[in-house]
Amino acid sequence: MALVPTMGFFHEGHLSLMRVAGSKADRVVVSLFVNPAQFGPNEDLNHYPRNFEQDAKLAEDNGVSCLFCPDAKDIYPPRFQTWIRVEGLSQGLCGASRPEHFRGVATIVAKLLIIVQPDLAIFGQKDFQQLQVIRRMVRDLNIPVNIIAHPIVREPDGLAMSSRNTYLNAQERESALSLVQALRLAEKMVAHGSRSGPEVIQTVRKHIQSFGNTKIDYVFLCDPESLKPCREIVGETLLALAVWVGKTRLIDNTLLKQ
Ligand code: AMP
Repeated sequence: MALVPTMGFFHEGHLSLMRVAGSKADRVVVSLFVNPAQFGPNEDLNHYPRNFEQDAKLAEDNGVSCLFCPDAKDIYPPRFQTWIRVEGLSQGLCGASRPEHFRGVATIVAKLLIIVQPDLAIFGQKDFQQLQVIRRMVRDLNIPVNIIAHPIVREPDGLAMSSRNTYLNAQERESALSLVQALRLAEKMVAHGSRSGPEVIQTVRKHIQSFGNTKIDYVFLCDPESLKPCREIVGETLLALAVWVGKTRLIDNTLLKQ
């Protein structure tokens, strides 16, 4: 049995994970839970987009056997006090501006794995740090599940699909393209022989800043396993971005290959 953990408001990225799950397992369970523990106090928990009827139909149409939608009060009952912290991997990148985020993610994913007991669980590479945090947690806690990574699913113009894209107005939607364009620029630089981390980062930052209404949270080059920063592009290097476009924080990444 396969598990696909989600926060709902399904797009083609989610549906693609569900279909891959169906190709690898006899039954697919999708969890739909907007997990309060992974939102910071000033984040968008209360505004996070929701559409249960549409999600239920899309899940059914994509071969899902069970949509698991627990209540927050059952997941975090009174006196709940047990948290999972994956220490090093949770600290940089998104962890720097979202200090409790990965504690919330690791705890909910551990709970879902214990409740559902799947043979495999599928996660998108769009949330690359999340994927590595979960892989580490599963190894460190000897959780008997196979974690499978799924490539980033994009809109035809390249924007990484995200439930949060729905927040963007027309002008912000244009500026949101700066992320994927900057990643493609970096890929080209590396293909043409550039190995300097600072040079690549500067080009990426400049490109994003040339669009209106963008504010960079981070542009980071690191080892894809340890997430430790790299100054040189050797072997496979992760280039990860988080950018505010208006009031919406978007993330994207690519693996640069020497
Ligand atoms: P979310 O509902 O945003 O928490 O996402 C649920 C799962 O879908 C996570 O494993 C995400 O990494 C994955 N996911 C979300 N967007 C995409 C995308 N554009 N491409 C691939 N996977 C995605």
